[in-house]
Amino acid sequence: MKNEILKIDKELPTVKKTELPSGHPLNDLTCRMLIAEAIKAREKAYAPYSGFKVGAALMSAGKKIIIGCNIENSAFSPTICAERVAFSKAISDGVLESDKSFVGIAVVGGKDANVSKEKGFADYTTPCGVCLQFMSEFVDAENFFVISAKSESDYWIYTLKDLMPFAFKYKK
Ligand SMILES: [Zn+2]
Repeated sequence: MKNEILKIDKELPTVKKTELPSGHPLNDLTCRMLIAEAIKAREKAYAPYSGFKVGAALMSAGKKIIIGCNIENSAFSPTICAERVAFSKAISDGVLESDKSFVGIAVVGGKDANVSKEKGFADYTTPCGVCLQFMSEFVDAENFFVISAKSESDYWIYTLKDLMPFAFKYKK
């Protein structure tokens, strides 16, 4: 058999805005609230090297909101993203134990120069691959929502499964 480069003849699935199931703790109001918290969290970001500040706001099933910001480091690799800070805080504070699950996380990011008070952020920010893998450890990927926002009223929603369809799972 000849060595051939495998051709993918199907288009990759398009990630689209997901309709939130009715009665879900996340709705337009709670999404806006989470985005507002993520915007506030971004103000705390420690990003002296890239200037790219990120804020995240994670919501538990019990509607607790846990915020995070990115924290950079001189040695670069110890840098941690806002999403993992939020999850780490939630896990270490026992939120997963008490509330059993997380429902979604709002993420905003950008350099100060690309944020305007009126229009919000110039771009949507989505979690990096490391954060998607990190989050997949603690949530049901089909029922956990990532809200990527330019402003409180301008946002997209994806399931974690949309963004990370094949997360690594260690099988014992
Ligand atoms: Zn990340």
